[in-house]
Amino acid sequence: MSRRFPIFFLIDVSESMVGEPIMQVKEGLANIIKELKTDPHALETVWLSIIVFAGQAKTLVPLQELVTFYPPDLPIGSGTSLSHGLGQLMFEMRRNVIKTSTERKGDWKPLVFLFTDGVPTSDTHGAIAEWQQNWKNSVNMVAIAIGDQTDYGLLSQLTENVLFFNDNKGSSYKEFFKWISASIKSQSVAVEQNRPGFQMPETETGGALSRADLSKSSPGNLIDDNYAVFAAKCQTHRRPYLIKYGKTMVANAQSWGQVAMYRLINAYQVDQTYFELSDESRVSKRISTEKLIGAPSCPCCGSQVSFALCGHCNNIHCIDLSNPISTCPWCGVSGQYGMSSGDFDVNRTQG
Ligand SMILES: [Zn+2]
Ligand SMILES: [Zn+2]
Repeated sequence: MSRRFPIFFLIDVSESMVGEPIMQVKEGLANIIKELKTDPHALETVWLSIIVFAGQAKTLVPLQELVTFYPPDLPIGSGTSLSHGLGQLMFEMRRNVIKTSTERKGDWKPLVFLFTDGVPTSDTHGAIAEWQQNWKNSVNMVAIAIGDQTDYGLLSQLTENVLFFNDNKGSSYKEFFKWISASIKSQSVAVEQNRPGFQMPETETGGALSRADLSKSSPGNLIDDNYAVFAAKCQTHRRPYLIKYGKTMVANAQSWGQVAMYRLINAYQVDQTYFELSDESRVSKRISTEKLIGAPSCPCCGSQVSFALCGHCNNIHCIDLSNPISTCPWCGVSGQYGMSSGDFDVNRTQG
């Protein structure tokens, strides 16, 4: 057997990724796999693994050879624990990467692609220290910051290869994943020629991908400000769903200026993995419904009211309008539902 070239994808699946971004990443991964499968060199050496993290981390696919690899569905969770993500990555590498010994030649230097779109919501010191001490020199990592809310300073402690991906353009994801396929191909050749370091292919200036400006300080905000995402449960199907709003500036007559509001993007069904990947203590910031524009129907049952607040546990659920008695799918408390006309505060997830 030829020496293996292990590649790990460590993907942030926090709530701000729900909808279009996660679909794009999934499609992008599928394209990378398809592309690599046509490359005889990659086919012979490349092994892949996919690890996701939100508030918790999970290995979706343990290290597996390219030939038999199929891209999995990507779940969504609450929170962004880079610390758990790194921990899971190091665990998988300890378990699966073969070190060179006197009896056998081990794997080529592993390559890690880290995708993240936010600011970690948990302490990262321990995981970063462990990474620097045990892995940084024996692994090549490319950290890709999606959107401009990412903490570059933190990523630069993990690797000198920090890229900024501008997700504002429609076609940019395509270009982005093409770049990743190209970098895997060139790196699979480079490792065999024992070239040191990671040979980063050129990024197009003004394109979707560029070197991150590491002098930019961290946003210092534990909540991703570009989106407001609310976790809810369907009363009929008991399934969780997420309601996603995007920040928009609107004119304000009273202050003669502009104020930040959040406009509805959409509501999405998520599966139970959502709870598995979420922080146990979901610290949330409150946001007034005054700031929200638009309300979706429930993506699970189609009810027109998907944004009802339980007076008992403060969680959001949909209402079955044909039934005058409403039972909260979170806490089980029943009650007659009265429509409130005033604005109320709702708990917003960390993103
Ligand atoms: Zn529903
Ligand atoms: Zn409740």
